[in-house]
Formats: sequence, structure tokens, C-alpha cells
Amino acid sequence: MQIFKFGGASVKDAAGVKNLAEIISSCDNEQMVVVVSAMGKSTNKLEDLVKQALAGENYEQTLNELKSYHREVIDELLGSTPDRYLLFEESLENELMNLSQVDPMLAYDKIVPHGELMSTSIIEAYLSQQVKCEWFDVRSVIRTDQYFTEANVDWVVTERQMLQDLKPVVERAIVITQGFIGSDVEGNSTTLGREGSDYTGAILACCLNADGFTVWKDVPGILNADPRILEDTEQYEKLSYREVTEMTYYGAQVIHPKTLKPIAQKSIPLIVRSFLDRDKSGTVIASENTTKTIPCFVFKGNQLLVTAQVKDHSFMNEKKLGMILQVLDLLNIKINLMQNSALTFSFCIDNKEFKSRRIKELLNRDFILTFDGALNLATIKNYTPDSFNKLPWNRSIIMEQKTTNNYQVLYR
Ligand code: ASP
Ligand code: MG
Repeated sequence: MQIFKFGGASVKDAAGVKNLAEIISSCDNEQMVVVVSAMGKSTNKLEDLVKQALAGENYEQTLNELKSYHREVIDELLGSTPDRYLLFEESLENELMNLSQVDPMLAYDKIVPHGELMSTSIIEAYLSQQVKCEWFDVRSVIRTDQYFTEANVDWVVTERQMLQDLKPVVERAIVITQGFIGSDVEGNSTTLGREGSDYTGAILACCLNADGFTVWKDVPGILNADPRILEDTEQYEKLSYREVTEMTYYGAQVIHPKTLKPIAQKSIPLIVRSFLDRDKSGTVIASENTTKTIPCFVFKGNQLLVTAQVKDHSFMNEKKLGMILQVLDLLNIKINLMQNSALTFSFCIDNKEFKSRRIKELLNRDFILTFDGALNLATIKNYTPDSFNKLPWNRSIIMEQKTTNNYQVLYR
């Protein structure tokens, strides 16, 4: 059995859906679950809709744009509008009308899943003209907690439901289902965090004991740097689960960070390959790593350096460090780089206005805080002597750190 995942870019228009159908039909005889994201940038549009509806603003135009975007794809692919698509369009409209009293996080999870529900309805209607396939509501098997917008999977219930309710369907038809969404114990829709469809694929692969999980992307595989930032990037042929986990930790946007754990647990190979260039084999991520790994460059913009200084001329000791870390944990903030000195502790985080406000509120009493924004963080994983030449050295360096394997530099 294979799990395939197609992201929003791969199904952004009718040509994308046709291409997806060609890929699926060329793999017949295989049991398969196809996980699909919302089309193009629909999720952003749905986020706009939530904001407008919650603020009591007029959202008609945004809604119409979203609808006509999907309708255009339907017109190009199908003779009529699929009933299932119409149902979701209608439920989207109804949910939007009743949003004003709803908690914002819950509201988000009522609205945003419609992107995946609508895209899969269109794709299944088109694909069923060519192969035997069935639409499946992934919310009926992926059980999560009620941490809306960033829900955590209940693995025991999810695995049981998948084996009971989804496996029999996979045995009789190609399954078309949604990424990114699940449901809580009360039946509310939940989402797994932005770009969470990769993670959905991994959950399915793990629970159904798939033989492989393929992520179809608009790049030929995993590259050692973002080609928009560095010239002459190289593609990895093979990587270990561990390597990729580390790459995502440093901010490489190759795959959703939660994807690796479930598939590594079951040693399921993960293949990243291009939906545009199907002759290329892509990058295989599996247990061993035979080739020596070339340096990997990760760049993160919009970084904030926070420096906390003790107020009373005592040392920045472990107790004080503990206080700061506790606050960061409470606020769900990840430290991207840190350094301490006698009187200070400095840490670099993604710059989010509301989080820095909360840091101030919670730490102002015990520390003198300074904030330095608009910084960039570069990481070279598995650095070599000449890999340093690739960094933009004409910038002013704020902080740097070097270990046996990794080099990190924060610069302006
Ligand atoms: N549609 C969702 C998003 O854009 C999930 C995904 O694409 O993986 O974040
Ligand atoms: Mg997406």
C-alpha cells in the first residue's frame, strides 16, 4: 500500500488536477490513499474569511473569490458541479453566518477545513471518471484533542478507527482524502497546524502500515539550500530520518516537522519527488544513510533577539535561566539560538509581535529586557571549510556559534 500526498501548489488549477490523475492512473494495481491539500492558496483565503467574519466585517467578496476560484476549476474539469462540493460550499456559508459568538480558535477550525473538503470533492469527482476511487472524510478517523488550530493526534483512537473504517475502503478502491484536518471527541473539526498535510500522510502511513509514503512537490527532491537564496544548490539522493528531522528543526521547509517521527517509527520510506518531472526519482528518506551528507544551508528571516539582564547584579544563574525557560515553554516559543554570559541570557526566536508582548509582561519584573528585531539566522549543518564562503559575509554579525557539526550565525 502506498500513501501519496499532493500539496496545494500541485492542484492549484485544472491542469494540476489532470496531472494528479495521470500520476494516480499510472500506478494502478496498487492499494493507495491519496492525501490532498486545499487548492492553491485557498487556506489563506479561508483564514481571511475567518478574520472578517469574526470582526463582523463584510466577507462576501472574499467568499465569492474563493467560490469562483473553485467553480472555474470545476467548469474546466467536469460537466456539472459535484453534489458533495455543493454541500461543502453550503456548510461554509452557514458556518460563516453563525460565527460571531464563537471562540476564535474554534471558529478557525470550523471554517478553514473547507479548503480540503472542497478540493477533495472536486478531485474525486474528476478522478472517478478514470479509476475506481472513493472520497473519504479523514475527520472520521483522525481523532485529536481540542487544541484548536494546532490539534494533537490521539494515536490509539486514530489507529483503531483507521484499521476498522478506512482499511476496508483501501482494499476496494483508491481513497481520496484530506490532509491537515481531524476531529475531536465531540465531532468538532480540528486542524493540525499550517502545512499539516504532510503530517496527515505520515499518520495514515503509520497507522495503515504503508509500504511507502510519497510527497509530490514542485521541486525535484530535497535540496541542500533554498534555491531562491543560494545559487548552485545540490539535491540529496538519500537522507536518513535523523538528518531530515534535524534539517526541519533548524527551519528548513522541506517537510512538516511532525512528519518524520511516525514514519521513522515504522521504518516506512519517505520519497520527495516532483509532480512536474515524473521521470526523476527524487529524494529517498529512510533508516540508513550510506552517502556522506553534504552541507545543508538553512536561512530564517524575521528573527528577534531578546536579551534578559539580571536586575540586582547577581549572576544569570540556573535558577534565573529556569525562570526564563519556563516562560518560553508556557508561551510555546522555540529558541532558535541562545547564549549566556555573567549577567545576561540572550535568545533568538521567530519575531511575533504578540509573543514578545507576553514575554515583556511575564519577565519585566525580574529582568531588564532588550529586543533587537529584523535579524536573520543562517545555519550550516555538516559544515565544511569552504561552505562558509557561501554566506552573505558583508552583513554585521550579532551572534555566532559553532559545534563539531553545525555553524549558526545571527546577522543584520
Ligand atoms: N492547506 C493547509 C495549508 O495550506 C495544509 C497544507 O497545505 O498542508 O496550510
Ligand atoms: Mg499548502
